[in-house]
Parts: sequence; structure tokens; C-alpha cells
Amino acid sequence: MNKDEESAFKVFIRVRPLLDRENSPQNNKSRSHKLKIHDSTILITEKRWNHKKNHCYTFDRIFSENHRNNHIYQETLYPIIGGVLNGFNATCFAYGMTGAGKTFTMIGDPCTHTRDPGLSLLAIEDLFSRSKSDKNHITIKISYFEIYNEKVIDLLNEKSRNILVIEDPLKGTILSGISEYQIDDNQYASQLIQEGDSKRVIAYTDANHASTRSHVILQISIEKNSNFRNVIEEIIYSKLFLIDLAGSEKISATESRGALRSIEGGNINRSLLALVNCINILSDSRKKGKFVPYRDSKLTRILKEALGGNTKTIMIACISPSLHYIDETLNTLKYAERARKIINKTSQNISEVEAHVSEYKEIISSLRQEIEFL
Ligand code: ADP
Ligand code: MG
Repeated sequence: MNKDEESAFKVFIRVRPLLDRENSPQNNKSRSHKLKIHDSTILITEKRWNHKKNHCYTFDRIFSENHRNNHIYQETLYPIIGGVLNGFNATCFAYGMTGAGKTFTMIGDPCTHTRDPGLSLLAIEDLFSRSKSDKNHITIKISYFEIYNEKVIDLLNEKSRNILVIEDPLKGTILSGISEYQIDDNQYASQLIQEGDSKRVIAYTDANHASTRSHVILQISIEKNSNFRNVIEEIIYSKLFLIDLAGSEKISATESRGALRSIEGGNINRSLLALVNCINILSDSRKKGKFVPYRDSKLTRILKEALGGNTKTIMIACISPSLHYIDETLNTLKYAERARKIINKTSQNISEVEAHVSEYKEIISSLRQEIEFL
């Protein structure tokens, strides 16, 4: 499938290294399948009994176990981060089953956090270094929250356990009362993220595998004031969302039972179901113009622009190389391939100030002309 050059929705695959336990001799199942990667193509040969089946998928790029976070950053977020400082929204989310490497990709390994930081910290670092060489005044603020059981929980303010998601006709989706921290250096950002992560662990030590059912979102808001003779000429603003999604394993189980929309509750993650559902509709050209149920969940309300609007979006689908999880891996690749059909168109966010200033400039110039005629 050829992807539209203009599309702002890119899909990448990351195959993580085989873990020690997956290398064990008892893991016979993985020996009967093969996984081959070539730049943007992945070929999985599945062998069951005497039957051989090939699955071939093409994406914007496939990263193998040898690629480190920094390399992945350079090929995914790096090309769009300049746009983020220039008023273009962007979103990067990691999708995949539990254990596939989502947190490692977005946040980094908790043990080697500083040695191999994830995409979130790399993005912040890059934003800082670029903003330093920009002659305009740039403000960078972060919010860090999770969606757990359809509740938006502020990870940087323990008192805010249920943030409201509000749709503002002018500003888009707003998280009412979420704490925002202005950050001036990488270290402070990294410290806030670590603090937020620790709140998650404390809050859910009792809940069984709760961390695999929550979506963790880092929101970076950027405002750039460009000055013209000490008068603010325009305000350019943008948002970058970096998202570590909940494990997708329950979703495929649900869909295979043919009840994607109707099953809710306890173990089924409503937000992830809604996300898959929106992707299914947006990527299906036969459903063009069809109603997209963004309002079905908190996650899709927050990601509305990232999925079907004015945002450069990157999906990193994480998979395990252990073909012990072949069914789940194929499900992930199937969704990722579907998402690749989504086409987003982006435009720069410039505040009204610019419009007012140019209006005033026009008035001044016409007054000048009138004076010249006098
Ligand atoms: P998920 O967030 O998708 O549940 P994790 O990111 O926690 O998965 O990864 C599961 C395990 O695999 C962790 O022990 C992690 O350290 C390891 N891992 C994941 N990706 C990589 C990688 N690219 N290189 C080395 N180890 C990895
Ligand atoms: Mg995780």
C-alpha cells in the first residue's frame, strides 16, 4: 500500500529484543515461526501443523531489537519537533500488548532511565535545545496524567483524582484544573516525570496489574511570542502529547468475540476499545464521512485532533520477537496497518493577536495614506 506523501499520520513498528525467559528451550512454539524485517517490511511465517502461512506488512519504518531509543527518536519525533515549536500539534503514542516495550520506548527503562531515556525525555531535551537558539520567547509547560477506569488522574497533583475533560469551541479539548508546570531545563522535567511515575506506583500497588490498564499521557504545551518592536506581534501555540497506552491484549480478545462496542466494565478498557473503534472508522475509506465516536471515552476525546484532525501523529506499535505471542503480534500489526490509512492534515496555530495586529497595521497604513493626501 502506498501512503499519501502529505499524510501526517505515520506508523512505525518496534520489535524489542528477546528477553532471557523467552529464549528458554521450553519455548518451543517460537521455533516454528519466523520473523524477518527489512526497513519498512515485516514478514512473519507462521507454521501450524503442516500448514505454512506468510503475513507481510509494510509500514513507514520498522525498528529492530538493535535500535536504541535515541535512534528511534531521530527517525520518528525529531523530524516533526521543529513544527511543534512553530505551532503544529503533534502526538506520539505507543501501542501494543503488555510486555511489548511501550514504556521502555516512551519513558525508558526505569533502571537505566538516565542512560537510555525514552522518547518523552528526548523530545523535551530537543525542545529545549531548539528553543534556546530561537530568538523568540518560548514557554514550555508540562502536565502528566493517566486515564484509569475512565478517570483522568493528575500525576503531578495528588489532590486532583478526577479531572474533567471539557470541549471548548475555541481551544479544543481542555483538562479542567490539571496542574501545569513551566519547565526551564531537562532535569526539572525529568524530575517531574519521575515524581509522577512514583505516584502511579503508590496509588495502585493493591490493584492487580493495574499499570497495564492505564494510559499515561505527558502533555507538553508550547507558547511562542514573537516580538515586534517590543509589542507582541503574534502568539503561536501548540501541544505535544506523548502517550504510553494500556496493554492491547484484552482488545483483540474482545473483538474476536464480535462485541467490540458492547462489552464494557471491569477488565475491558473502554478507552482503548474506543481508540481502536475510531481508528477502524477513520481508516476505512468506505466509511468516509461516517460519524466517529470520539465521545465514547476519555482517551478518544483527548486524542480527537490526533486521530482525525490537525495533528501530526506518530503511532509506534511495539511487538515482541517471541512468536510465542504470535496471535497478539499479528493483531497489533493488523491494527497498525489499519491506522496507517488515516490521513491527517495539519495547520499552524496562531492566536487572534496576529489577526488583530495585521488589522491594525492595515488601519495605520491607510491613515498614513490619508495624511499624505492632506
Ligand atoms: P510494556 O510497557 O509494553 O508493557 P515494557 O516497556 O515494560 O513493556 O517492556 C517489557 C520488558 O522488556 C521490560 O523488562 C523492558 O525492560 C524490556 N524491554 C522492552 N523493550 C526493550 C528494548 N528495546 N531493549 C531492551 N529491553 C527492552
Ligand atoms: Mg508499560
